[in-house]
Amino acid sequence: MSELNLILLGPPGAGKGTQAERLQGDFRMPHISTGDMLRAQVAAETELGQEAQRYMTAGELVPDEVIIGMIIARIAEDDARDGFLLDGFPRNTEQADALAAALEKLDRRLSAVLLIEVPDEEVVRRLAGRRVCVKNPSHIYHVEFDPPKRDGVCDQDGARLIQRDDDQEETIRRRLEVYHAQTAPLIAYYDSDGVLRRFDGLRSADEVHDRIRATLATLRLEETF
Ligand code: ADP
Ligand code: ADP
Repeated sequence: MSELNLILLGPPGAGKGTQAERLQGDFRMPHISTGDMLRAQVAAETELGQEAQRYMTAGELVPDEVIIGMIIARIAEDDARDGFLLDGFPRNTEQADALAAALEKLDRRLSAVLLIEVPDEEVVRRLAGRRVCVKNPSHIYHVEFDPPKRDGVCDQDGARLIQRDDDQEETIRRRLEVYHAQTAPLIAYYDSDGVLRRFDGLRSADEVHDRIRATLATLRLEETF
């Protein structure tokens, strides 16, 4: 079967990570989250992590030269040969152009850009209540909308749940501004390429997942004709 090269696009808190965790189970493609990669670098106290941290804490984008090389190398790895699911990248047109050039070199193309739409006020509610597993950041919860069975403990591996440093109201507002100014222009960018697919992120995580799966099934069917 042909490869599925996907991007998850949407504001912070739209549910990109939540959907990525599910889609990864369906399609066995690597979930490539720039945020998770950067946070791992911060935790390991690497030079890159130290450089990135101040931008992340302020809710600003980490400079392109740090991010682009990291992602281009990642999609060329073996496990991404049959497809990938990018989450949090690209976040501006420079990154999108760099990705397009890298894919062209590899003689590959994007299958779809999955846009999850959610209004700003919902973003604030979601991020303020988000909790993530300290051991595996793909395990995502919400104190109200998707609580763990035991308070503060990950259902899947029993590790502690934590709140991200940047999930504080003031930083959330700044991240939203950055999204609207720098990332939202990618909606028109990918729409004009004909690869954009829109999803109503206000639906439940299960419903969004069902709709994305249906869209991807149709895409794959179209490709076989
Ligand atoms: P993103 O990766 O886009 O920043 P996440 O997947 O981390 O978003 O989700 C942000 C928060 O919203 C998490 O606490 C998650 O549990 C919750 N969430 C995700 N999808 C939904 C949904 N469809 N309805 C309600 N809450 C959701
Ligand atoms: P969100 O839950 O908002 O989708 P992420 O985990 O994707 O958050 O990103 C957290 C932070 O990491 C961002 O606010 C930004 O500082 C940095 N970051 C992640 N991806 C990128 C990127 N592609 N370009 C620049 N900075 C990034």
